Amino acid sequence: MRLCIKEPIPEVRIAISVLEVAVDAHLAGDEDLAAAKFREANCPITWQWLNEAWTKVHKNVVLKRPEGDTQEIPKSDRDPDRNITQCIKDLVLERDGYRCRYCGLPVVHADIRKIARQLYPNEVPWNPRIAAEQHSAFQAVWLQFDHVEPHSHGGKSSIENVVITCALCNFGKDRFTLRQLDIEDPRLRPPVLTNFDGLERLRQAAPSPVRSSRVVKERRLKPCNDPSEAIGFNAEAFFFEGAYISSGYVNIPPVNGKARWFKLSDTVQGEVAVRNGVKGCVIHCARELLDRRGIHADDYLVRPEQFLTY
Ligand SMILES: [Zn+2]
Repeated sequence: MRLCIKEPIPEVRIAISVLEVAVDAHLAGDEDLAAAKFREANCPITWQWLNEAWTKVHKNVVLKRPEGDTQEIPKSDRDPDRNITQCIKDLVLERDGYRCRYCGLPVVHADIRKIARQLYPNEVPWNPRIAAEQHSAFQAVWLQFDHVEPHSHGGKSSIENVVITCALCNFGKDRFTLRQLDIEDPRLRPPVLTNFDGLERLRQAAPSPVRSSRVVKERRLKPCNDPSEAIGFNAEAFFFEGAYISSGYVNIPPVNGKARWFKLSDTVQGEVAVRNGVKGCVIHCARELLDRRGIHADDYLVRPEQFLTY
């Protein structure tokens, strides 16, 4: 049994220490050094480490149906509060500190990345639609709150079931159970508290108030509808990173080198959606429509609880 999906490589830890130097340089008034260090921290090897554990989550599964594992439960039996309240988040952060409970990586709140991006827009790129065009160190340290036992398996949004994680450990875990991923329950190990402050010291340098992503999510995002209710029993949901809706079509960035379009109709519905922190579109349709376009449906299949729609 392993501690996490993918052991952090030394280059990732180095990138995080470079981020620290960048923040301290900025706070000391050395903007040239800060810019150089933010640029240096954005190294391709970190993105290579994240990808594909982040983007092709089904590859993280070790056992599809482990004996004695928990099962999905009916929606009516699940915790009605899938979203974790701010109060629980505060308590979890106080308990765990800025450190992933699975792999031990230091983690940083998204607000800090937004401040860094406001200060150094060229050195801290962040394309919300394309994961490969985001600052790789800020991706790696992106603080997350993970349901250890998946919500769909009866896991509660409680302090007992929620832990701090890095992006790879949360996004890579997706809807799978610890047994499916062959990962030890992190709650069996006490949190390791360190002096790392999550780069929170950069908040004092914020050029304008950074709107909390939590507020945005609560106001604008909602759990999606069950597609089968909308367009028939054989419809499934497929998420495409970077896709967008325009003039009655869902436009999909190249898959195997070829861009594709889906015309919206009674049998094809599209929604702008966010999955694992990346924007794109969910298409609700029969999988045959993907097959006809040469797209392997299972690579894009998602369940309603796996994404949020606008
Ligand atoms: Zn981690």
